[in-house]
Amino acid sequence: MTAAQDIIKQTEGLLVSTYNSQPVVMDRGEGCYAFDTDGKKYLDFAAGIAVASLGHAHPKLMETITTQAARLMTCQASYATQEKLKAAKLLIESSCFDQIYFSNSGTESVEASLKCARKWAYDEKGENCNEIIAFHKSFHGRTYGSASVTEKRMVQPFFGPYLPNVHFADFNDIDSVKALVSDKTAAIIIEPVQGEGGLVPADKTFLQALRALCDAENICLIFDEVQAGFGRLGTLHAYQSFGVEPDIAAWAKGMGSGFPVGAMAAKKKFGKAIVVGTHGTTYGGNPLACAVAACVMEEMTSSGFMENVNKVSGVLFDGLAKIQRESNKITEIRGKGLMIGVDTVFEIKDVLKTLQSNGLMATQAGKATLRLTPPLILNENQAEEALVIIEKTLKEMD
Ligand code: PLP
Repeated sequence: MTAAQDIIKQTEGLLVSTYNSQPVVMDRGEGCYAFDTDGKKYLDFAAGIAVASLGHAHPKLMETITTQAARLMTCQASYATQEKLKAAKLLIESSCFDQIYFSNSGTESVEASLKCARKWAYDEKGENCNEIIAFHKSFHGRTYGSASVTEKRMVQPFFGPYLPNVHFADFNDIDSVKALVSDKTAAIIIEPVQGEGGLVPADKTFLQALRALCDAENICLIFDEVQAGFGRLGTLHAYQSFGVEPDIAAWAKGMGSGFPVGAMAAKKKFGKAIVVGTHGTTYGGNPLACAVAACVMEEMTSSGFMENVNKVSGVLFDGLAKIQRESNKITEIRGKGLMIGVDTVFEIKDVLKTLQSNGLMATQAGKATLRLTPPLILNENQAEEALVIIEKTLKEMD
């Protein structure tokens, strides 16, 4: 047994089995690359599943973390801090929202969004207005509220009963949403690009129709931007890529570039439904997390950052289309920005394994989609390097 295999086996023996273990042990990261304990170098197109937005060991982020850790990491959530003020200001000034609730993960941001929408509906439309519409193939997290609006609940009955009064519509089909709307509908929750569902972008016209429906029926529209937000689509916030403003957004992942921080952002009409004593979290909005979020925001809004995301996205989409034309091994390419899904004629687990041995880390989305979510600081040479590995891998697998 190698040293790496020993670490993997021992770890498996100590942890609850939530994931299938990878065959290598991760050791360190640098920019868009990660290295395992045997020193093998990988282009990191997983990035913690769309998390390491600034790449690994980003100098300014490291400096921010070490400085802030030495100054103040935690204080009771009821205290204001300069870091919390700065992060909240940056988030509000960059978006259509008026109020922020800081969380520590995607699922917590979704929980807060659902609770905020339900509380608003209770106050505004009465206690019977408690239904939520979500979408088939959705993924919103693993705590009870977010799991209840995730379609997988259908195949995980052992965790039931889930939150009642949740209905599932067809993604990109406004008639299927209209058929579920009633005077009991409190909120509609949607991923602007379905991530776990296979990297499927919403149609702009569909989101516009959802917005119009929510306005007409006084329903709260929630965008789950946990995976698609923070530059992933080539705009700071995911909704900006579609020109449709939600009432509430859930954020996390790329917001901390590896540090656990998330947020619910809300327009005042909805955010004000949460009053003292109705929601909260011990760690949410801690000075360290807020310093990180502010640093990530400053980097992402710096000159040229989003231009790079869009340029490199173009290189990847064009290169993948070329491989598709020339190899016939790619059946579909989907996504937006640096959130790219590729279906191939091969078994996804074999594709991931061969890519990994060829030096590229990626992840699976849905049943069979190769998901590419590199750091947003990827440059054109690194994008070309990834395309060479992907082309080589598909050839090798033939
Ligand atoms: N929402 C979306 C769209 C996600 O992709 C995820 C995670 O993949 C979550 C929510 C849950 O986030 P977390 O794993 O941080 O709880």
